[in-house]
This record gives sequence, C-alpha cells and structure tokens, in this order.
Amino acid sequence: MQQAQWAEPQDFDRVLTSMCTEPHPRAREAAERFLATNPGDPGTYEAVAGLEAEAVEKLGAIAGLSEPAGYVSSGGTESNIQAVRIARNRADTDEPNVVAPTSAHFSFRKAAELLGVELRTAPTVDHRADADAVAELIDDDTVAVVGVAGSTEYGVVDPIPALSELATDAGALCHVDAAWGGFYLPFTDHDWHFGHADVDTLTIDPHKAGRAAVPAGGLLARSESLFDDLAVDTPYLESTAQITLTGTRSGAGVASAVADALASRGHDVFGPELPLVTADLSVPMTDELRDRGWRVSKTGSGELRIVCMPHVTRSMLRSFVADLDWY
Ligand SMILES: *Cc1c(COP(=O)(O)O)cnc(C)c1O
Repeated sequence: MQQAQWAEPQDFDRVLTSMCTEPHPRAREAAERFLATNPGDPGTYEAVAGLEAEAVEKLGAIAGLSEPAGYVSSGGTESNIQAVRIARNRADTDEPNVVAPTSAHFSFRKAAELLGVELRTAPTVDHRADADAVAELIDDDTVAVVGVAGSTEYGVVDPIPALSELATDAGALCHVDAAWGGFYLPFTDHDWHFGHADVDTLTIDPHKAGRAAVPAGGLLARSESLFDDLAVDTPYLESTAQITLTGTRSGAGVASAVADALASRGHDVFGPELPLVTADLSVPMTDELRDRGWRVSKTGSGELRIVCMPHVTRSMLRSFVADLDWY
C-alpha cells in the first residue's frame, strides 16, 4: 500500500484535491529574490512596494477595475475578513450582520466570530446562491451581502448582479469571493466582477489559480475610500512579481475530460462550471483511490471532489481513470 503522506511536499503527481498548484517558475524565482522584503515598509523596500501596486493593477484589470484600490494579502481568508471589517466599520449599527449563501467559504465564519458580526447563511439551489433566499435574510442591520464566484466545493458562480442589487437596496456592501475562481472566470461568460455589477470589494488569490507562491492573496475595492474605515494600516505581505494566467484554459479542458470519463462510467457528476468536478463515488472506492496514492477529498455531502489545477495533466487523469476502471 502506497502511503500518500510520505510523498514529497511539493510532489503534485497525484494531487486532485488542492486549490493551490505548482508555482510558475518566474513566481518561484521572484519569491526567492524577494524573500526578506517587507511591502508593509515601503520606505525601506521601495522596489517591492512598486511591485505590489503593479500586482493590484493587474488583479484590477482581471476584475474589471481600471483604477483599483487594494493590497496583496496572505490569502483569501485575510481578504474576506478584511472585506467584512470594511463593511462593519462603515455601517451605523450595533448589531451588524452579513448575508451569504451556505456555500460561502468557512473564512466568513472566522470573520464573523472575530469581528462580532452575525453571519446569516441562505440555502442554495444547485449549489448556487438563491437571490430570494438571500433577500429574506437581509434587514436594516445587514452590512454586506456576499456572493461566491467559483465556490470551493462545487466550483459554481453565484448570481452576482442579483446579489449586488440586493446589497444596494439595503445600503450594504457587495463582496464577491473569487479567491479561487478569479483567474478562470475571465475565460467564461459569467457576470462576476466590478464591471458586471455594483461590486464593492472582491477577493482574488494569486496563490490559487494565479500560480503565485504561497502566500499571495488579493483584496480589491472599487475605491480607495473603502479602506478609510480600517482603523489600522492593512498588513501588507510579500508580493510576488508575476501574475500569470497560463494554464487556466487547459485546466478547464482537463476538467471536462474527467467529468466525461466519470459520467460514462455511470457516476452522477456535478460540474464542471469552472475546473472543479464532483462525483458520487462510494466510500470503499474513494478509500481504494487513496490507498493508490491519489489525494482526493470529499464535499460536505460526501461526493468525491476533483480540482483541476494546472498541475493536473491529461496523462495524470488518464492514470486516475485507469485506477477507477481497475476497481
Ligand atoms: C480557498 C478559498 C478561500 C480561502 O483562501 P485562503 O487563501 O486559503 O485563505 C476563500 N474563499 C474561497 C472561495 C476559496 O476557495
């Protein structure tokens, strides 16, 4: 029996579950060069401060903002926490709440707990936010409405324009969590960014599909003034110089390939909308795959979950499917 936990830490050969991937060679090189710099101290580290501005500009271009405000954070968790913090601090209520679909990432639970904000979660339909269900939870104390653009478990996109309208009507901020999806969505027809709807803040992680080295998250805002309500300076972290889009298309391609392979073997497959597929594989089958060294994970409802990041190649999936056939 092959022990998955003995694999090299950065051996992606059988990793089907991760939302991180092999860093782009240029990103790796840049991370090494800038290892000891601190963008939180722009006076001392001028070069990296300039690079951070460039990174924000590039993330903004992907997310439909020509003059973006924002910073490079430690990841989607920090960006989501900061977005909730902006919404809480600018609102005039003692009992703030944030409304999100049940599919929202657990970082919003951390944000709610840390910030003393009530998190209200609305049921989804086909794993997507349901605008009517979200509307029912909104009241005068709602400070933000959250939409997910590329959900963590099923890779689907919420109806962002409808959610942003609800936020506007409630005088709340609209936050879009595109931590994982942000680098895939430009190749789709989805309405998800600042250019498509009245989005106020948006999370997009270079260290997921952007092929940057960990840690590199991104928080973008429609205007610099949204950051005014943060009482202390944002904790600027190391930024990587290169933000590439390479691999995204081929990721989508391999996702379709694996969905077809699973469906043709009689499994109930969900997706892919973005390069993420789930299928109803049995527990013994999943255990067998794990014994064979595949790093696979399950959704909360028990489906097998495969994330087709750039390190997931066609030949890797062929060998995965061959193992399915063996079972
Ligand atoms: C991964 C993920 C996060 C959290 O990002 P980290 O970088 O792991 O902190 C937040 N939201 C979504 C949708 C994610 O997929």
